[in-house]
Amino acid sequence: MKTIKDVFLSFKDALNKLYDFHEIEAITLLVLEEITGFSRAKIKAFTNDDLPADASEKLDGILADLKTGKPVQYVLGTAEFYGLSFFVNPATLIPRPETEELVEWILKSAADSREPETGNLNILDIGTGSGCIAIALKKNLPNAAVTAIDISEDALQTAKKNAVINETDIKFNNVDILNKATHNSFPTTHFNIIVSNPPYVTLKDKLQMHINVNNFEPHTALFVPENDPLIFYKAITNFAAEKLIPGGLLFFEINEAFGKETVDLLKDKSFINIELRQDMSGRDRMVKAVKPY
Ligand code: GLN
Repeated sequence: MKTIKDVFLSFKDALNKLYDFHEIEAITLLVLEEITGFSRAKIKAFTNDDLPADASEKLDGILADLKTGKPVQYVLGTAEFYGLSFFVNPATLIPRPETEELVEWILKSAADSREPETGNLNILDIGTGSGCIAIALKKNLPNAAVTAIDISEDALQTAKKNAVINETDIKFNNVDILNKATHNSFPTTHFNIIVSNPPYVTLKDKLQMHINVNNFEPHTALFVPENDPLIFYKAITNFAAEKLIPGGLLFFEINEAFGKETVDLLKDKSFINIELRQDMSGRDRMVKAVKPY
């Protein structure tokens, strides 16, 4: 019989070349929560308890997968975001905590964006991936009409499943934001809020990236061409200038190296009240801008 403590020790041993101590502890907790169904608190408090037999059987396969560098969320097939659970797979980026901060900002701003007479709130998420932003918004703004688009049909399939398990009704469309010909494939023409966390990782960032990001996460969701790192921001800003209602809000997650450039881009397109915010690590990570009235 294996105890919970045995599992922590064997994970530490097996993963110490890939992750630091804190990461290994976090990974082990996620695995134990998933395979035992116990709470985090219970796992931490009862490390001398034996694992249930069926949980013990699953461990070897999971550990073998983790040793390849595969992120724990892909190994388990799920990730937490904004208190909700999402299916993830190599077609979708794993939701990041910085993006939860962006969702928080949007939710705080949403009340002011409703149309005064009707109370309508049309929201568009561009490059939705697992659907995490769109679904977290809809969950917290049940009366909003949320549309989510992505270039990847595989990502959209996953996002649709996530909408179902989280009991949210969202319109999904396959759209390539860089290709205008695909833009007319969704019925809503005007939005109160547009949000995007587009690809923004450059070659320079890629060289510093952990192998489990670079080897396992979808490159279409991460990387931008070296000669045009703001390619998605330019396309989305143009799109938003057309599709937002006057006074509508545009939110971006950004590469910390391009705060000023993103703000300048929005100014060039006449957006107003542009705000740049840092994430909890103090890095320039998100921008909010208003389409002029
Ligand atoms: N924040 C992600 C990372 O560091 C990148 C997300 C993105 O490119 N939109 O891997």
